[in-house]
Amino acid sequence: MPDESPPVSGDAEHWRTQYNEIAASAGRLAHEVRNPLGTIGLNLELLEEELRDTDTARDRRMHKKVQTLQRECQHLNLIVENFLQFVRTGTADRLPVVLNDLVGEFIEVFRPVAAAQHVELVPHLAAQLAPVLLDGRMFRQVLFNLCQNALHAMPDGGQLELFTYERDGEVVLEIIDTGKGMDERTQSRMFDPFFTTKDGGTGLGLATVQRIVMAHEGRIECESALNRGTRFRIRLPVAS
Ligand code: ADP
Ligand code: MG
Repeated sequence: MPDESPPVSGDAEHWRTQYNEIAASAGRLAHEVRNPLGTIGLNLELLEEELRDTDTARDRRMHKKVQTLQRECQHLNLIVENFLQFVRTGTADRLPVVLNDLVGEFIEVFRPVAAAQHVELVPHLAAQLAPVLLDGRMFRQVLFNLCQNALHAMPDGGQLELFTYERDGEVVLEIIDTGKGMDERTQSRMFDPFFTTKDGGTGLGLATVQRIVMAHEGRIECESALNRGTRFRIRLPVAS
């Protein structure tokens, strides 16, 4: 019987092209959605202001509805922004960086955010670290996404430790929180795009982190215990 299916390598090539086109279109779609969404948000804000101090029952009902629309619009915005970050992780623009410098800068910015939630940031940065090849902008995103999740996991406050050290030709970053931890189902799905256990979550934070780490030829692992806390460990190859 003649085999009419294309050779396997051609088939894979075909699907890769298809996949890349769809990925590019998805990014474009998110980008196109962004502007009209901004206009909608702005007009809702004006409407909300107009209805804020009204006293008829009808206007109060309208005010409530406008506020609901505003919340939904903010959530859509967050999805679009997070999705754009997610699709922009393909190619990293890497330069030799000492990880401590980047982590140090991040801590300065994030410390007040954490303090506002009664979370103490505790850095343990190695005295000496070999440089790694990093895209600074992307890596700040990694730090932000992981630390923001940690804050979400500690609504009543806690401790957030950041370690850096060198081991076996790799620079290691650990982020450890004393938050609520994850059950097994969450642990097995946390890196899936759009998987979230939060009201108003997008489920794109860890998927983005994982893609960025992969774009840096690094590895990420997680250990978590319910009601005890969570540790993320990222290993990056030392720049040769
Ligand atoms: P989102 O934050 O929008 O929910 P993420 O991809 O950042 O999406 O995280 C996916 C899920 O992983 C979260 O909804 C949460 O259940 C879990 N998670 C991530 N980080 C932590 C953490 N530090 N502690 C507990 N759970 C976490
Ligand atoms: Mg998140």
